Amino acid sequence: MLAATTAPDLDTPLAQLPRISQERLQGLRRLRLVTVRDLLGHLPRRYDDQRERVSLADLTLGRAATVEVDLVAVRGRRTQHRHIELLEAEVADPTGSLPVIWFNQPHLRHLLHPGDHVTLHGKVTRGKRGGLQLQNPDVERERKWVGQASVGVLVPTYPETAHVTSRWLRAQVAALLPLAEGIEETLPQEVRDREGLMPLPTALRQMHFPDDQEHLELAQARFGFEELFYPQLAALLARRQRLSRTGTRSPYDVALARQFVAGLPFKLTDDQRRAAHEILIDLDRPSPMNRLLQGDVGSGKTVVAAMAARMAIAAGHQVVLMAPTEILARQHHQTLCDLLSPIGIWPRLLVGSTKPAVRREIIGALAAGADNLVVGTHALIEDEVQFPDLGLCIVDEQHRFGVAQRLRLRDKSQVNPDFLSMTATPIPRSLSLTLYGDLDVSQIRHLPPGRRPIQTRLVEPEERQLAYDFIRTEVAAGRQGFIICPLIEDSPAGEVRSATAEYERLRTEVLSDLRLTLIHGRLPAREKAERMDAFAAGQFDLLVATSVIEVGVDIPNATVIGIEDADRFGLAQLHQFRGRVGRGEHDSHCLLFVGAADPGSRRRLEALISHQDGFALAEIDLRLRGAGDPYGLRQHGFPEMRVGDLLDDGLRERARRAAELVLVADPKLADPVLRRGIRGYQVVFEFD
Ligand code: ADP
Ligand code: MG
Repeated sequence: MLAATTAPDLDTPLAQLPRISQERLQGLRRLRLVTVRDLLGHLPRRYDDQRERVSLADLTLGRAATVEVDLVAVRGRRTQHRHIELLEAEVADPTGSLPVIWFNQPHLRHLLHPGDHVTLHGKVTRGKRGGLQLQNPDVERERKWVGQASVGVLVPTYPETAHVTSRWLRAQVAALLPLAEGIEETLPQEVRDREGLMPLPTALRQMHFPDDQEHLELAQARFGFEELFYPQLAALLARRQRLSRTGTRSPYDVALARQFVAGLPFKLTDDQRRAAHEILIDLDRPSPMNRLLQGDVGSGKTVVAAMAARMAIAAGHQVVLMAPTEILARQHHQTLCDLLSPIGIWPRLLVGSTKPAVRREIIGALAAGADNLVVGTHALIEDEVQFPDLGLCIVDEQHRFGVAQRLRLRDKSQVNPDFLSMTATPIPRSLSLTLYGDLDVSQIRHLPPGRRPIQTRLVEPEERQLAYDFIRTEVAAGRQGFIICPLIEDSPAGEVRSATAEYERLRTEVLSDLRLTLIHGRLPAREKAERMDAFAAGQFDLLVATSVIEVGVDIPNATVIGIEDADRFGLAQLHQFRGRVGRGEHDSHCLLFVGAADPGSRRRLEALISHQDGFALAEIDLRLRGAGDPYGLRQHGFPEMRVGDLLDDGLRERARRAAELVLVADPKLADPVLRRGIRGYQVVFEFD
């Protein structure tokens, strides 16, 4: 290994640090750490207060605790029923002994040996035999924390991965921390002064090795502010740019809107009416629209989108609707045909499986301006597809597309089209204000009348048979159902029920009297569509699927959905699955199959049972999860954010005001500090 001959600086690749193995380098890459600068920016996830070691005799049920113990025994096994990898240990300190259990962490098996002296940090739960146990604790293997002399009592624990432990990170950061002095400031002095925030190098030092709780909180406050400040600044900039651009106009023809509504087979809900009105006003403006239409599955977004399309087409523009999957595109196409063909608008469908001759014909007709409405998938953004006069882009489930893909769609036209995104993913308001700063939001909160709540319940392992009997009863009554499984194939650990294996099992054993079909993401699109169509036509009773089913499928006759390993999905996603049923006149049911779900997961699932409102569930999910990246913020070009700050309305307001002041003083963003700071937060939406 080539050791660095000169002292490392901020741009030194971590590969050049002493004693870096390939495995460790890989681990670092997984954490997106490449240079020394990245490493110093890798902030701790939590801190252990060394004073708070607890004796085994003093543990409290339900609380997290740090204990320093000797390992007495360790044993690994798999559960019979669902093949979960269990690692069980017995630990002791002078005051007593305690069982410890880890779920699905087989790698720990090789790290733990009887006689080891370890520090464990984890939650105290009730064990099998009724006594206390420590569940899934973090393990620290040494008697002394590395770098202890420099860290005081608050010991940092970092986001880790295989071969990159907090212990190792602490040692590296401790050695490299003096370099933090050279890290370039990312918040202007005026902003820091006004808000009372630490300079960046100080804040970094205090985050890694805080002097005390108070300094830690000051450092966190700085990062928390910055995390909200730049998205706000980026959003203000994006909005200013967008509004200064000239786009297309589709005049708001009130008589035409009335006529459209009168022709519908149902009465629009108030929410739909309001959303349509907001959209039509935007279409009438010369600057490009950037609006998100949010509404639960089945809330009736498509008809609102159809109305917008109607208006743009009446103004002589072309309209495109892009969806993330072929199934969804076909369904939208069908809906739009139903709604628009009676008034002489013929939507085209362009997807991956469209035959070459048809595809050529569609591309030609679009380029000539002869066709004015096309629905499709990614196939729409291929180079040959061009629109001379694109007035309106509608993107369904827009978070499924990258920013670049949406920009390519926009750039297919000579003009700046209006943009309407639709999503059934309920995004909490607190989050959307930060995430979608330059996005105007229309919401459909209430479902069309007559929909009944979906009965949701947990199915314990011993209740499986009852659940299958229930499905059989529904089918006997003429209904249909879904079974959702998390992965296509069994993962090596065997912990996940696969759709394929489950399909075989149900088909040959448990539900062999029913007609079953299977859909997963690896089937060719055409095959998927065929099976879906056959299911919709009632040729199958039960559809076994992976999460491809998540969006859009509209089968009013389906009344029961079973979700395997329900605890592995987020609440927002479970809520979307659930929305696959309850679309017709019959009472519908959602069965959440759970195995050895931990208490936290159960609490999440119980929220699903007691709430039907997707927005309420999204807020709960955000609070319960606390951390992580539940909304794919990174994919949106955001660094990881702490959820606590996202939920802090007061902080967001402060950040917003600060951003407005900065823009007044420096409208061109000439300050290099601002340019540097905003880099990581480039919130590019439809309009860059
Ligand atoms: P979403 O796209 O929001 O999931 P859809 O637009 O697909 O919802 O609508 C779901 C179903 O509800 C469709 O069958 C649609 O025809 C119907 N629908 C939409 N709006 C209404 C309404 N106001 N009253 C009754 N049914 C409606
Ligand atoms: Mg829809």
